[in-house]
Amino acid sequence: MVPIGGAEPGKGLCAGKSRSWEMDGRTVVEWRRAISSCEACPLLAQCRIDAAASAERGDGPQRMIMAGNAYDSHGNIVDGERLGLYESLTTATRRRGNAEVAA
Ligand code: SF4
Repeated sequence: MVPIGGAEPGKGLCAGKSRSWEMDGRTVVEWRRAISSCEACPLLAQCRIDAAASAERGDGPQRMIMAGNAYDSHGNIVDGERLGLYESLTTATRRRGNAEVAA
């Protein structure tokens, strides 16, 4: 669970809890919780600028929540309305990939 509490001065709500903003091994419910935390974060505006700048450089976020958005493994923003579908598709793909590795 991602606690939505106050941020320390100068720090985002994800500070010290970065695992909760990763998408691998977590559910769409947890992704949405992280997104909600971002939306309440005092650093959201700066974080959006940083996310856009890093994406433009080609080293943007992948498979994680940042600045209130979910980023896929290619660094593209996943439409918030389609997070459930994205979870279904990527979970099935990752299970298949793991089964092939284990076989
Ligand atoms: S807006 Fe940025 S700094 Fe704030 S919780 Fe989200 S990812 Fe962290």
